[in-house]
Amino acid sequence: MKKHNFFAGPAILPQAVLMKAAEAVNDFEGMGLSLLEISHRSPQFVDVLDRAVASAKKLLNVPDTHEVLFLTGGASSQFFMSAMNYLGSTQTAGYINTGSWSTKAIKEAKAYGTVIELASSKDKNFNYLPKGFDIPSDLRYLHYTSNNTIYGTQYASPPVSDVPYICDMSSDIFSRPVDVSKYMMIYAGAQKNMGPAGTTLVIVNKEELGKVDRQIPTMLDYNTHIAKNSSFNTPPVFPIYVSMLTMEWVLEQGGVEAMAKKNEAKAALLYNEIDRNPLFEGTVAVEDRSLMNICFLLKDNAREAEFIELAGQAGCVGIKGHRSVGGFRASTYNAMSEEGIQTLVNVMKNFEEKYG
Ligand SMILES: *Cc1c(COP(=O)(O)O)cnc(C)c1O
Repeated sequence: MKKHNFFAGPAILPQAVLMKAAEAVNDFEGMGLSLLEISHRSPQFVDVLDRAVASAKKLLNVPDTHEVLFLTGGASSQFFMSAMNYLGSTQTAGYINTGSWSTKAIKEAKAYGTVIELASSKDKNFNYLPKGFDIPSDLRYLHYTSNNTIYGTQYASPPVSDVPYICDMSSDIFSRPVDVSKYMMIYAGAQKNMGPAGTTLVIVNKEELGKVDRQIPTMLDYNTHIAKNSSFNTPPVFPIYVSMLTMEWVLEQGGVEAMAKKNEAKAALLYNEIDRNPLFEGTVAVEDRSLMNICFLLKDNAREAEFIELAGQAGCVGIKGHRSVGGFRASTYNAMSEEGIQTLVNVMKNFEEKYG
């Protein structure tokens, strides 16, 4: 039986996508060859890349000022590449620290210019999003993490500012609409909400490139990858193909607006049970709750292992919380069905009958 996959990443993918991916590994589009054994310069693979770029542009309504790239090195390489390409050595960037990923982004950017940590929620183990702080208007960019995969907070809308954003959207890309024109750059590791591990979606404002006072190694220069359509060197063909299939699946579902509605309904189902069921409690400030990574606790944590065991028996896997929060984390990405969440909710109700 196929399990309900609540892992945070690598994470659930639509079943239809997995079936097509399996077929392409066997015989890609009737070529008599696997997708994995053809040239990345073949017309067949160039078409995959073109379809992937076109789908990303369509899903997020990407303006002509921006380019869509598929790179390697994970979202983690974008922590430094973003600053290397956009932050001049005499310029200042602002960062909001909302968790482990932002902390890493801040550390890496400091090598390239002046970095100000504008606000942090570290004082409460990142269980809320900082508010009411000043954002200077002369920053080169404002960096934030839209969804904090580990702690379960998410910006319902971007921080209010006229400064162009750079945003790590690794765990909520394509889960809702985004006004890309306000972003200098967006990046997202594929393995949370877009595809398998191995590629990173990067959307760059090309008009803001080429302005820094340093030499950038060829492979780390966004202009290299723009000029060569993400094929300066051999691109990760399989992760790009599966990401393409997933993006086309999102388009078939009605695009990011439809996805956002479903994600809101799915998250509400689980949060309502967390708030209703006297045995459980959420870990995050209610107004900052993530629709993608839902973190909660059993008030009596001695029963954690039993709850995980019962969830497993019902087919729900991957709900153990990250070690820095504890408790449980249910990741409810685009591909998670309402049925999967209802199954977990039923386990919680049964637990209440047993112990409530
Ligand atoms: C997982 C994750 C990362 C790290 O991604 P890698 O591709 O493993 O480098 C960065 N930011 C966020 C928000 C994440 O969820």
